[in-house]
Amino acid sequence: MSRHNRILFAGDPHGNFKPIIAAAQKYQPEAVILLGDYDLEMPLEDCLAEIIGVTDIWWIAGNHDFETPSKYHNLFNSAFSDKDLHLKVTEIAGLRVAGLSGIFLGRVWYPPQPPKWSGKQHYLHHQPSNSKNVGMSLKYKSAIWHDEFEALKALKADILVTHEAPGSHRHGFKVIGELAAAMGVKHIFHGHLHENYASTLRNNIKVCGVANSAVTNLLGYALSEK
Ligand SMILES: [Zn+2]
Repeated sequence: MSRHNRILFAGDPHGNFKPIIAAAQKYQPEAVILLGDYDLEMPLEDCLAEIIGVTDIWWIAGNHDFETPSKYHNLFNSAFSDKDLHLKVTEIAGLRVAGLSGIFLGRVWYPPQPPKWSGKQHYLHHQPSNSKNVGMSLKYKSAIWHDEFEALKALKADILVTHEAPGSHRHGFKVIGELAAAMGVKHIFHGHLHENYASTLRNNIKVCGVANSAVTNLLGYALSEK
């Protein structure tokens, strides 16, 4: 096994798990990291049954995973519910991997504009009391919250996986590169924009965009096209 294939990164499957399964069977990586947007019609473990035991499976969530209660449930209450990388650093195949799920939402925080709410507690505190018990809608759960994002900066990691893109992409956000720099990250892998590309940020952080249903290795080399 090539050292560079010990972790594979899978771009937005949108219901198509075949390329991930094929790549995991072919390359036998220690771990596969899924970059969000699954459109799950069944629990995640059912989509990946063929590679359970072949490799470790880790994930972050994309915006589509909050679209309906069933898509949400099939991910967050799946057998892989404890493989969520969001807002923490997890050691995977000898590397420290940090995760950031979700997207920037105008109603919460859309950088470079200042955040509308400092965090979930701030938002919930300002909701009408009759809606407080309902909790937060899935839309708000899909947001990147400023206080959680800032707290992540205190941690150290080798790799940052995000659904949103950093400033290397025309639709990306500069703050993600700033987060990576604060964490000492060397490589960012992201999904969401359905494009395979490699780029380098000004502070020499390597960025790899992974297209929908594509799989790349640690070098950002695409192992399977969509
Ligand atoms: Zn997306």
